[in-house]
Amino acid sequence: MTSFQGKSALVLGGSRGIGAAIVRRLAADGAEVTFTYFGARQAAEQLANETGSTAVLTDSADRDAVIRRVRESGPLDVLIVNAGVAVFGNALDLDPDAIDEMLKINVHAPYHAAVEAARLMPEGGRIIVIGSVNGDRVPFAGIAAYALSKSALQGMARGLARDLGPRGITVNVVQPGPIDTDANPADGPIRDLLHSFMAIKRHGRAEEVAGMVAWLAGPETDFVTGAMHTIDGAFGA
Ligand code: NDP
Repeated sequence: MTSFQGKSALVLGGSRGIGAAIVRRLAADGAEVTFTYFGARQAAEQLANETGSTAVLTDSADRDAVIRRVRESGPLDVLIVNAGVAVFGNALDLDPDAIDEMLKINVHAPYHAAVEAARLMPEGGRIIVIGSVNGDRVPFAGIAAYALSKSALQGMARGLARDLGPRGITVNVVQPGPIDTDANPADGPIRDLLHSFMAIKRHGRAEEVAGMVAWLAGPETDFVTGAMHTIDGAFGA
């Protein structure tokens, strides 16, 4: 366990799945955690009660709302951008508006949130974005735009690491493989396909991802920045 006593953390997209596991972990380790939700109000309120964190409604597809939320959080020691959606299917058939909405949530929001957080972030600050192993590997059809959104985060992290390194702020991407959440249930229809690419043939647990995030957010990683951290049972190997 890492102590986050006295640290302030904002998790964008914390109401369910991986984000909720990150909220639980950081709160259990002593951080003062605020997290955003959009659709899952009840789950967000329950999680806030359970963990002593604060839930706030913010649509990650709304750039100005995201920037406002980060600004209103004041100086953050840790920013986690987890909110993400997946639009899968034949690229020739998918609705272009749905693709653009995904890019707003998965790409625009992380960038603008990171830049806004950096304005007030103290030395030792941590910016962590949840990408995907699909930023590195796309072993089947139908996920081109999602993969685009996740590989975009790689360039962002590399660039912002250069921008913010002189101030002692690190920027990293955590790249999960299949993780058991509402978005990708362990008993879902593509389970066997997903497991066929893996050395460890199971879905990961959200808590396993939260453990990696907690390490990156903690005090041992001053020298870890501009890097992708894959946790995927060797899906991408
Ligand atoms: P879930 O669908 O289980 O949860 C998504 C979370 O993002 C929810 O808390 C949701 O909040 C929030 N969110 C989605 N859209 C918005 C929005 N417009 N505004 C604010 N919050 C929003 O997904 P996962 O936990 O599985 O995924 C979390 C992240 O991990 C995503 O970035 C995803 O791409 C990535 N990932 C997941 C993998 C997996 O296999 N599960 C694999 C690789 C990466 P609410 O419900 O309140 O709207």
